[in-house]
Amino acid sequence: MDLWNTVAESIAAASGAPFSVAARHSAGGGCINQAYVLEGGGRRYFVKTNGTEHLPMFDAEADGLRELASSGAIRVPQPVCLGNAGGSAFLVLEYIEFAAAGRGGAQRLGTQLAALHRSNAAQFGWRRDNTIGATPQINTWSGDWVDFWRERRLGYQLGLAAAHGCGGRLQREGGKLLDRLPQFFANYLPLPSLLHGDLWGGNAAFDAAGHPVIFDPAVYYGDREADLAMTELFGGFSADFYAAYRESYPLDPGYATRKALYNLYHVLNHFNLFGGGYLGQAERMIAALLAETG
Ligand code: ADP
Repeated sequence: MDLWNTVAESIAAASGAPFSVAARHSAGGGCINQAYVLEGGGRRYFVKTNGTEHLPMFDAEADGLRELASSGAIRVPQPVCLGNAGGSAFLVLEYIEFAAAGRGGAQRLGTQLAALHRSNAAQFGWRRDNTIGATPQINTWSGDWVDFWRERRLGYQLGLAAAHGCGGRLQREGGKLLDRLPQFFANYLPLPSLLHGDLWGGNAAFDAAGHPVIFDPAVYYGDREADLAMTELFGGFSADFYAAYRESYPLDPGYATRKALYNLYHVLNHFNLFGGGYLGQAERMIAALLAETG
């Protein structure tokens, strides 16, 4: 059946109120999906589409949004429905009108992210795998954070790079870093905190009332420093944001060193997705991290 008729029927079934599409606007797309805004009967929805093979990715995104919402700490778009139709996978979300941060917005984001990070699990990981960009992200539970970061994060991305034919220095020096990981955690015991998982500036915004909103997550329970590190990787978060976060939930001094360990995961992922200069960046980060070890 036609994609947009199925989407409308699916919205009607999920919301319990008849829905037909009066207007559909392209909302551009991120790097991965196409995005649309649907309007009808005074209601609006945000819809992402992609090839049918991406339905599990949308399912994991919807689950991640529900997990974040269950913390009650910060606003996320509510998932409405998802499915396959007309040769596409679709995910329908509550539409949120974004606005400027407004006075105190950055502080609220810092405070609410800290509150999110106070939602804990018994172990590191999540009850399902998801994706980071379009790359699989493995979340099998582990009681040991260092093992988790070694095997399911850095080791996994290094393995993908090797499968893409990138051996040599990256693998050799990367392997050395994996062996020395415990040195970065000698005086620090991370807790399994609920993380957004892909918190760059493009995945945080403010609604019309000035409430922070985070979206497009890659959820798992892990060291909260990993979320903060990513906010620093591509910039876009203000000094007020960091001050408010630290006031609510102070950081260990070792964060300054570990943040490269956490951002290396995203740089390796960018190399695996896009290639190019990310390889040199990853190698420089590994060299700098190895220089911190004995
Ligand atoms: P992708 O998965 O393709 O990266 P995103 O989830 O990042 O897509 O969404 C792309 C853009 O659409 C975002 O940068 C944001 O501006 C906007 N957007 C995302 N979710 C919503 C929503 N629920 N309501 C309104 N706009 C949204």
